[in-house]
Amino acid sequence: MGKVSTQGAALLMEFALAQAVERLPAWEPIRSEKVQSLNNLRAGMAGEKRIYETILSVKMHDEAAILQDMALPLMAGSTFQMDLVLVAKSGILLIESKQIAGRLRFHPVPAELRKVDEDGKIQAVYDCPVAQLSEQQQNLHQWLTMAGYQVPVYGAVVFANNPVIEEIKQNAPVYKMREVRNLIRRHLVRQPVMDTGEIRALEKSMRLDARPYLPFPLKGIHSAVGRLGPLCLYCSEPLQRHSQRNWLCAKCKRREKDPGLVTLLAWFLLVRKTIRPREVMILLELKSHESARGLLARLPLIKIGKGKAVEYMADYGQLAQSDDVIKVVKAWLAGKEAIRQ
Ligand SMILES: [Zn+2]
Repeated sequence: MGKVSTQGAALLMEFALAQAVERLPAWEPIRSEKVQSLNNLRAGMAGEKRIYETILSVKMHDEAAILQDMALPLMAGSTFQMDLVLVAKSGILLIESKQIAGRLRFHPVPAELRKVDEDGKIQAVYDCPVAQLSEQQQNLHQWLTMAGYQVPVYGAVVFANNPVIEEIKQNAPVYKMREVRNLIRRHLVRQPVMDTGEIRALEKSMRLDARPYLPFPLKGIHSAVGRLGPLCLYCSEPLQRHSQRNWLCAKCKRREKDPGLVTLLAWFLLVRKTIRPREVMILLELKSHESARGLLARLPLIKIGKGKAVEYMADYGQLAQSDDVIKVVKAWLAGKEAIRQ
């Protein structure tokens, strides 16, 4: 489990949400919920990517490590998630990335972030990012202590989309995109507390202890999903098997060669952790158990049960770190993205 890349976990989540949106009927309230989650996830990922790339653009003289979407365990089985963690000789800089545009006011009591319109009327209220950051710093501090490290943890909230911040407490650790380079430079010139070897060791400990967020199958989808078989990439209509190797969309006449893996992954992420060969046959209009097993063999699955009771079970950690799975997921997401533009 430890080796699972958090990148893989985020991609699986994006794919799962996008597949849910494809497969849920338009009138299902849960569909609009998933559309919103997908938009939020993508905005968050885009913001983090911008910050990540800006950090990379700063010339770093020491062998700093940058970790993205790091989720670490705490006592009592809980975990906490950090957007960006810079581990440098000068200590750790924890960055909480935010994607909120518009006019913002940091309200002190109760601690919350208010988005206002031009007349100052409140449009939306969010948890205070500074309070969130401070909680993450404490969590990380606790994890470091348990793991036997004594490293200072600095923190910053970064707004990836340059909002207008109208009210904020002086010296609050809140920055805009254009201030990120200076923020990083200032961090790097602090008094060193670690050498390169210690940075590497700490990075390794974090990666080994990481607990990627893989809450699959997504809750509340199974009973609402109407279409489980292969769908047309272009118009999202169900595909029909045309020949051994070809599927055809009745609506747009598009041909697809190999929609099997995408369909199986959607099943595991939206429906159930297990699948029977019989179900694969129905899902993909296959005539034999052999072809069903052949397809299942292309995914890292665990075979359970015997004879007629045989099922194949997904280990989501395995899926998230499988290069084959990531390739299929990326190709499908890229195909969809190309259509959107
Ligand atoms: Zn089509």
